[in-house]
Amino acid sequence: MTTKFDAIVIGGGISGLITTLILSGNGYRVLLVEKEQRLGGTNNSFRNRRGDSFDFGYHTLDCDRSPFATRFFSEVLHGQFHTFALKRGIAIKGHTMPYNAPISEWPEAIRRSVEKTEFVDTIDGPPTRESLASIYGDYLAGLALNEILPSYPTLFWQLKNGKPESDLMDQVYPWFFPKSIKQSIGKHEWNRFHQKVRDQGEHMVMYPSIGGFGGFIDAIVKKIDTQKARIVQGFSKLDVSIDPDSQKIRSIDLDGVTYQADQYFWCAPLAIVGRLLGVPFPSAHPQMLCLGSFVFERELPFAYHEILVGERGVPINRISFPGKIAGGKNDKAQVEFAYPLGEMVIEENTWVADSHSYLEKLGLLQQDNPLIDYHFFGANKGFVSTHDPLKMLADFRASLRHSTNIVYPYIGLEVDSISRIIPSVFREVYRAITA
Ligand SMILES: Cc1cc2nc3c(=O)[nH]c(=O)nc-3n(C[C@H](O)[C@H](O)[C@H](O)COP(=O)(O)OP(=O)(O)OC[C@H]3O[C@@H](n4cnc5c(N)ncnc54)[C@H](O)[C@@H]3O)c2cc1C
Repeated sequence: MTTKFDAIVIGGGISGLITTLILSGNGYRVLLVEKEQRLGGTNNSFRNRRGDSFDFGYHTLDCDRSPFATRFFSEVLHGQFHTFALKRGIAIKGHTMPYNAPISEWPEAIRRSVEKTEFVDTIDGPPTRESLASIYGDYLAGLALNEILPSYPTLFWQLKNGKPESDLMDQVYPWFFPKSIKQSIGKHEWNRFHQKVRDQGEHMVMYPSIGGFGGFIDAIVKKIDTQKARIVQGFSKLDVSIDPDSQKIRSIDLDGVTYQADQYFWCAPLAIVGRLLGVPFPSAHPQMLCLGSFVFERELPFAYHEILVGERGVPINRISFPGKIAGGKNDKAQVEFAYPLGEMVIEENTWVADSHSYLEKLGLLQQDNPLIDYHFFGANKGFVSTHDPLKMLADFRASLRHSTNIVYPYIGLEVDSISRIIPSVFREVYRAITA
């Protein structure tokens, strides 16, 4: 027997939930299918054994990035959020310093090797070793390219596999560079946003007051019209029957039950649908994400909300402070690290010990402030690839047929700012239902 809906949404992350919210709000009978037991995908929170709430890695919403996303966030949460100026730090060579600090405020140990005291930055396109050295001097350019960039195993892997250095530099530049007089702004949305933050001198972000980003997900779910939408989560097997020529989905089969719809909204990873459609999706290497969520006995003596770490040999990419972000007791730290699967082995015990001693080295943790609980998460999440992500997506778009019954509310690679995802989902879903 086949059950019919007006629309089927595949994937219950933020894209799929907002799609379901819009469709059910417009009278569509919707089926949302999510393979995990929990809704929310990457944008989520969890609790440790003691009941402390952590997000899945550092999560905030940038205020100044998309007025549309900001308004949606405020309305869904009915004002139950707080707004604050994000204090971001960077850690290099065992020292921490504020992001975008003038070189005069950098630690003496680094500053003494820097030739200039002021920088006039004219870089417009992708930064190269030469352009960085001509502006910031050989020492800072070398530090960024020889130490900070390779300290990210995912970037190092891409470098090793032939991706040009300048294509990767925007992961490091201008994050790990001192304040400059910027005379030129790159064309990408990301460059403009970075520059805005640097000019304003502060980065305003929003954070839900209840339940972290999981609270935001819960608030979206609560708004979904349950008379119109049915949500199936935690199934064991989903088969999608697809005609690769017309790119139309014929039906989906969920644990032996067949469902059909007029339109299918694809909100799960694109690589899956690419495979089903026979659309060449460039090969990508699985990425492992490790997340250590620590609780300490007493408050941490730091004012940062997050610290980006650029240290070779230190298996940490970012440290964030969930208690401080939530506006509560600053007694938690969360450590993130990503690497290409098979390139290294991260053992829970040694990684926790390494993270602990690095927090001590940075002065974040005093000897008399013991770790009282931790939660370790390590799983395959996302991928690394040497292909240009924008070209990958452009090729994917170009191979899609207009007559298909599949709608893509958000075409992007997995880790993107929800400020970009939310407007795209509204635009694409309304485009599909008003066409
Ligand atoms: C550590 C980390 C920190 C981040 N911090 C921020 C931040 O501070 N600010 C910000 O704006 N963004 C941040 N992001 C990015 C943001 O969280 C994601 O881009 C966003 O959540 C992606 O949402 P999505 O719905 O498109 O995809 P996902 O969240 O990946 O959702 C896809 C869903 O599809 C499901 N699925 C997969 N396969 C199937 C299948 N076969 N059938 C059915 N369902 C399936 C998955 O289980 C998942 O629930 C961060 C991401 C990470 C990893």
